[in-house]
Amino acid sequence: MRNILVIEDSPLVLKVLEHLFRQDGALQPVFCASFGEAQLLLETSANLFFAAIVDLNLPDAPNGEVVDLVLQYSLPCIVLSSSYNEQRRDELLLKGVVDYVLKESQHSYDYVLRLIHRLERNCQVKILIAEDSEATRHYIRRVLTPHLYQIIDAVDGDEALRILQEQPDIDLFLVDHSMPGLSGFELVKLLRQQMRRSELIILGLSADAKGSLSALFIKHGADDFLRKPFCPEELNCRVMSTLERRDLLRALKQAAQFDSLTGLHNRRSFYDNACRQLQQAARKGQGLSVAMLDLDLFKQINDQFGHASGDAALVGFAQAARQCLPHALIGRLGGEEFALLSTLPAAQLADSLQQLRAQCAHIKYAIGAPPLSFSAGIHQTTGEELEQCLQQADQQLYRAKSDGRGRSYWQA
Ligand code: GH3
Ligand code: MG
Ligand code: MG
Ligand code: MG
Repeated sequence: MRNILVIEDSPLVLKVLEHLFRQDGALQPVFCASFGEAQLLLETSANLFFAAIVDLNLPDAPNGEVVDLVLQYSLPCIVLSSSYNEQRRDELLLKGVVDYVLKESQHSYDYVLRLIHRLERNCQVKILIAEDSEATRHYIRRVLTPHLYQIIDAVDGDEALRILQEQPDIDLFLVDHSMPGLSGFELVKLLRQQMRRSELIILGLSADAKGSLSALFIKHGADDFLRKPFCPEELNCRVMSTLERRDLLRALKQAAQFDSLTGLHNRRSFYDNACRQLQQAARKGQGLSVAMLDLDLFKQINDQFGHASGDAALVGFAQAARQCLPHALIGRLGGEEFALLSTLPAAQLADSLQQLRAQCAHIKYAIGAPPLSFSAGIHQTTGEELEQCLQQADQQLYRAKSDGRGRSYWQA
């Protein structure tokens, strides 16, 4: 739980914020109604806070004095103001506040909480700036720093390329076009041959007045473009929106490939990966084993202990399977039916499944419920297609069920 310092004297605003914090659940607000109160609290406990939300007009500090107080403790500071003043806003942003938000509607307050969560994620976001002008580099750093990103500088394209190769976990690359050596544009073309959009976000920068360069940048794989000079808010908005787009893309990919209950590969993703692995193994002349697993008498579990207990059993089973078979590809094909692809020969895979069986006895999914049990059929491949392998494994599974369940069968 993150502590958020809220320095605000209006009872109405406090009420709205209190309500939103309660709904959020992951942030703990600490309220101060005056500058003096905040000063006392920060003196002793500044390190307990993750960020501060501040009102510019307080009874004992009517001119935004509280901003300096909060920034003095290097706390990310979000300003809430009831009036819009452009000059004031620019001054505050350059001073290092995270954002200047107008107390307009429910949306403004929602935005503030979203911003705090964004700040939490930003601590993990690495940004590389490639810009030959020292003044611009400093300006960008100054604008981005309050948002808690990890920031790295490169003075030209060649240095940027070296850093990107050394640090593949860089999330976002801000690249100037005109630099000595490799130009920004050449870098984008080069990088997009190696890295997809979900792996590296690229934002182009240039003082080019025509606008054709921005189109060129984007056509060659940049995610967005900023024309210099740009104001602090514009830079922050572009960085934030491209990061949000990337996160959304990743979440969609995750949802398309993995089963939401167990976190295992879903049917489609299991098939895609298994087909690929089978082809690779066939090329190298390596053997693989395919197994079908089915939980025993699962309908009775649902009937006797409820669907939620059934779900808990599925989650527990998936967790145990991952632990017992860390190198296998495991998929949930549907319901209580799972498939495995392993490099182990059939007999050895059967031994591992026996260990999994022992583990299943310890899965607690409902009070008074019997130990979770499963049956399995294994097929050791001899170069067949996945569908045939699964059919063969399924026949063995059928035999295991008929012979009393709780066992694994494979062809001798
Ligand atoms: P057998 O040992 O012969 O496999 O018997 P079984 O009861 O396990 O097999 P059956 O195919 O009759 O029942 C499977 C049950 O799995 C029926 C269905 O309600 C339940 N099921 C399927 N998907 C889920 C799920 O996501 N959550 C829960 N709780 N139950 C599920
Ligand atoms: Mg330049
Ligand atoms: Mg079953
Ligand atoms: Mg079944």
